[in-house]
Amino acid sequence: MTDTQNDGLLIVGEDLCEKLVGRADAFEAVEAVFAAMAKGDAYNFPVIREAIGYADALYGFKSGFDRAGKNLGVKSGGFWPGNMAKGLTNHQSTVFLFDPDTGKLSALVGGNYLTAVRTAASSSVSIQHLARKDAKVLGMVGAGHQSHFQMRAAAEQRDFEKVVAWNPHPDMLPKLGETAKELGLEFEAVTPEQLGAQADVIITITSAFEPLLMKDWIKPGTHIACMGTDTKGKMEVDPALVAAATVFTDEIAQSISIGEAQHAIASGALKEDQITPIGKVINGDHPGRTSEAEITLFDGTGVGLQDLAVASVAARLAAESGEAIRVKL
Ligand code: NAD
Repeated sequence: MTDTQNDGLLIVGEDLCEKLVGRADAFEAVEAVFAAMAKGDAYNFPVIREAIGYADALYGFKSGFDRAGKNLGVKSGGFWPGNMAKGLTNHQSTVFLFDPDTGKLSALVGGNYLTAVRTAASSSVSIQHLARKDAKVLGMVGAGHQSHFQMRAAAEQRDFEKVVAWNPHPDMLPKLGETAKELGLEFEAVTPEQLGAQADVIITITSAFEPLLMKDWIKPGTHIACMGTDTKGKMEVDPALVAAATVFTDEIAQSISIGEAQHAIASGALKEDQITPIGKVINGDHPGRTSEAEITLFDGTGVGLQDLAVASVAARLAAESGEAIRVKL
């Protein structure tokens, strides 16, 4: 960002983000910010999320500061359930980046595509650091917008041969099968029990409020990335599975309050000090997986610093390519 700061505000639209920010860029940025968080170099500010009493919308802010990456800013946006009927994405967001030395607004970056790639990068980082090296079967629970990004990113982390998938709305699965086909992976729609029996790595990315995967269905050695639960009350897997697994997360404060671990924590089956920030594994301060039979679970709650990290990459690449719009405020 530093080379752009004296040239006014940079505006980077959705199309440009999509063109410039690849999965490898997102992976690198998210891995680095998780590492910075675990070292105490980066922290998220309290999240604001409000039902605004208009258009059934949920609106809020996720913000933070990464001293190591020099990223200061906020992602603002939320969920407008009526958007689909208007031909728009229900989730809408924009990232505002500020110069940490002066407080000047330095970039406005479209946040919709970046949210999907940063969320996929998050589960990918967990797979890279925690899944067994010999993982061959990827299990997908969920077949919505994010699931395609999740599968594409996960496929780059291990030599997967096959995807097994289940979704509460089965009509959405054929489209996911097309993405698997594009990746050269065999695809099979299965029951959740069959999914647990076959998968070496599982990604859950739904809007569920009750467990979709039970503890006894999961085989030893599985790595599970729970990515859908990002709000109080949501739940994708059996709390007994969470309690039985070795649990890692992006941020403990979110994991215990709005993440998948919230239910096991509330019942007392899991203690906060049993959850490890994945940044510690990245930094070499925690061994991560310690046996081939261990079940590892990543509670990916989604933090504002991830958004700032990928938006900062988008702004830098847009400045370098000369394709961003610049304005003087
Ligand atoms: P989407 O609306 O495109 O897809 C929703 C998915 O959830 C589909 O698979 C659908 O069949 C399933 N689903 C819908 N209602 C359900 C219910 N009541 N019970 C069980 N399953 C249900 O949404 P998306 O953009 O793919 O997002 C999926 C989830 O991921 C959402 O819950 C979203 O909030 C969450 N998310 C998390 C992060 C993060 O950083 N952790 C980031 C983005 C989105």
